Amino acid sequence: MVIGGGPAGSSTASLLAGRGRSVILLEKERFPRFHIGESLLPRSLSVLRELGVVPALEQGYLRKYGARFCDSATGRIAHYRFVEALDPGEQFAYQVPRAAFDEMLLDAAGRRGVQVLQGWTASDVCFEGGRAAGVVARSDDGSSRRIDASFVVDASGRDTLLASGKRLRGLLPGLDKTAIYSHWDGVWREAGDDQGNIQIVLFEPGWFWFIPFAGTMTSVGCVLSSEYVRTKRPDEALGAFFERTIAMSSFASEWLRAATLATEVGAVADFSYRVRELAGPGWVLVGDAAGFIDPLFSTGVHLALENARLAAETIDAVLDAGDLDPARFDPYVRAARRGAETFVGLVQAFYDGAFREALFAEHQRPLLRRMITSLLSGDVFDEGASWSRFVVERYPARLG
Ligand SMILES: Cc1cc2nc3c(=O)[nH]c(=O)nc-3n(C[C@H](O)[C@H](O)[C@H](O)COP(=O)(O)OP(=O)(O)OC[C@H]3O[C@@H](n4cnc5c(N)ncnc54)[C@H](O)[C@@H]3O)c2cc1C
Repeated sequence: MVIGGGPAGSSTASLLAGRGRSVILLEKERFPRFHIGESLLPRSLSVLRELGVVPALEQGYLRKYGARFCDSATGRIAHYRFVEALDPGEQFAYQVPRAAFDEMLLDAAGRRGVQVLQGWTASDVCFEGGRAAGVVARSDDGSSRRIDASFVVDASGRDTLLASGKRLRGLLPGLDKTAIYSHWDGVWREAGDDQGNIQIVLFEPGWFWFIPFAGTMTSVGCVLSSEYVRTKRPDEALGAFFERTIAMSSFASEWLRAATLATEVGAVADFSYRVRELAGPGWVLVGDAAGFIDPLFSTGVHLALENARLAAETIDAVLDAGDLDPARFDPYVRAARRGAETFVGLVQAFYDGAFREALFAEHQRPLLRRMITSLLSGDVFDEGASWSRFVVERYPARLG
């Protein structure tokens, strides 16, 4: 049983079905539905290949060859191209409007034999003798039923069904930020292969993202300090506050000068958190249900897909062995934590200033540049990799 049809849930379900398991997936919404979080990382490509969706990505989505960081205060620009990574196995990623991307992954799960129930909310996970044994599910037509399962995967995203119920969530120090987001038509973008770059624009209260899609639309949002967000007047509409914020950055206002707002402006507050336990008897958490990090380095979907791959492998082995001992998930938990905490440390060091200086350093050592590029590519799951060890030692995560 998989709860949630975002990238974490649909991939876990697909990979389990591919191993011959019988899987039911519950998704409370009906797809396509809007979701924020549209920039992928190159290191996700191997899982996306396993899911069989790369040909469709090639057809309909813009390739992303790199990331550009622009500092509004100083005018400094740092451009990282994935081809410069220490292990440049994957040289690009994709920019993906999530309504279409998530629907594509969910459809792929259905084609692999997953029974997908849309419009069904898991309201509770049922435990018997201390192990998860199924869920209570409510349909959007009002009916309700219990569905038994030999294993429950919580991929409910930021709803964190199990972690909230078990009070396992904690905040991450220094990451009490708020995001504002929207889609715009006609935003400036680079030319040629660089048109697909993500642009990260630093300015005094935080940073903006500019994520271009195939066609003329661009996702534009910003992540703001809580002190700055408190300057929003009670009678000020979110859209007006966003415009006032855009005016604070020379880069952002210039790039949006000829653009038009194409969606409502949305916001999400205090979004980073960690979860203290990721697995137990008969259950595991994947994707945002297992924790969430500030989106500065576009890591959410990558961590979700990597979680999915390892979780599916482990669940399959656990079911084969008929042994629900949570210790079997230790390698999964270690890998999930390692990937996430590498980025927590980097994001905290960015806000503190230390990693920001490394990103923009004028006389950057070539090796450091390649290490940073590897991290920006999402290459953080190999414990033995020198860049991974370097960053964990140099920028250790503060977990509170
Ligand atoms: C401001 C912001 C910007 C971001 N930018 C990026 C980015 O550029 N790149 C990136 O990779 N990531 C980004 N992210 C993160 C990314 O969106 C998430 O990490 C990603 O969506 C995680 O996938 P998931 O499947 O775990 O969760 P989700 O995609 O949220 O999917 C969870 C699904 O579960 C369903 N659900 C929830 N509760 C239940 C229930 N009880 N029963 C049934 N269904 C349920 C929901 O409807 C949803 O469809 C960003 C996030 C934020 C907040």
